[in-house]
Amino acid sequence: MFRRSLILSLSVFFLACGSDEAADDSASDGPAVEDMTTAQRLESLLSTLAADSMEGRRTGTPGAQRAARFLAQELGSYGIEAAGDNGYFQTVPMVRMTVETPNGPRERLVMETDAEMWDTISPGQILQTEVNVVGVIRGADPDVAHEAVILGAHYDHVGIGTPVADEAGVLDSIYNGADDDGSGTVAVLEVARVLSRGAPPRRTVVILLSTGEEMGLLGTRYYIENPIIPMENTVADLQVEMIGRPDDAVGGFGHAWLTGFERTTMGNQLAEAGSPIVADPRLDQNFFFRSDNIAFARLGIPAHTLSSFNLHGDYHQPSDEVDKIDFDHMAVLVEATVEAVRFLADGPTPEWNPGGTDGLNLGN
Ligand SMILES: [Zn+2]
Repeated sequence: MFRRSLILSLSVFFLACGSDEAADDSASDGPAVEDMTTAQRLESLLSTLAADSMEGRRTGTPGAQRAARFLAQELGSYGIEAAGDNGYFQTVPMVRMTVETPNGPRERLVMETDAEMWDTISPGQILQTEVNVVGVIRGADPDVAHEAVILGAHYDHVGIGTPVADEAGVLDSIYNGADDDGSGTVAVLEVARVLSRGAPPRRTVVILLSTGEEMGLLGTRYYIENPIIPMENTVADLQVEMIGRPDDAVGGFGHAWLTGFERTTMGNQLAEAGSPIVADPRLDQNFFFRSDNIAFARLGIPAHTLSSFNLHGDYHQPSDEVDKIDFDHMAVLVEATVEAVRFLADGPTPEWNPGGTDGLNLGN
């Protein structure tokens, strides 16, 4: 514990300093990372990503940019190929606007393309600071290496907001997003690390840690317009969202559900391959339509989100903290995600079931 905490506080310190040299030094503590269990690695990663120093990772803030640097540093330490326009960073141009809402004026970030209709943008409103963090594991089979499987999670959250008293009555204004979606983000990091150490996949695996999900899937929408493997060759998308706590509705510890399970063959294919993944038990929540997967699904790509969100009351609250995460549970789901991505990259591609695209307005 002591050694891990020390490494953590050192890496937070180096990140805060913004020194690449110092960051390299902390990354070279590799043997300690290799010696950890999966649960320990996840805890170490999430303790940094969801720390107060990341300021809730709101897109357009220094906290989100600090988080992106941390994620890129991690992918680099695993030796994963960078696939952004600036190392791992894929710059997502945005425009900062103030819009009127029923609750008064609110700041919004929109994609540059969406803002072209506004003829009053000043240079100060344009952001070139927000990024997706993108890596790639190249496929090894010449017949299908041009095809891509996307493994994604959104690293942004909602930032600093209204203070809320915690269980002890202490006010907290930092919305850490440990579960949403720090849990999915560090799971994707760990899956990427494991995949990069195994036999190369047949198809190419794109690691997409997206920004701006909470603002309207901005990062994913930008990726779709600027993919590293063409969308027509993208055969599946698997997002990991909120897997930090077990969900009793699907069997609790070590189990997860897949949004839109019945829409494509993916869920059944994975379940038949032994994955602890079942159908989303809460169709009334419309989760299939509420995460980055939906942007891919609307293009006709079988796309789902793996989750074990149990509707806990800490959703989008400052109390979505690291100390409420079950890392042993997450470790089981990381293993399941490794197997799922291997299956998608090496096996038959998932197909839509009859009626599976209902409600997607394909082609619109
Ligand atoms: Zn989320």
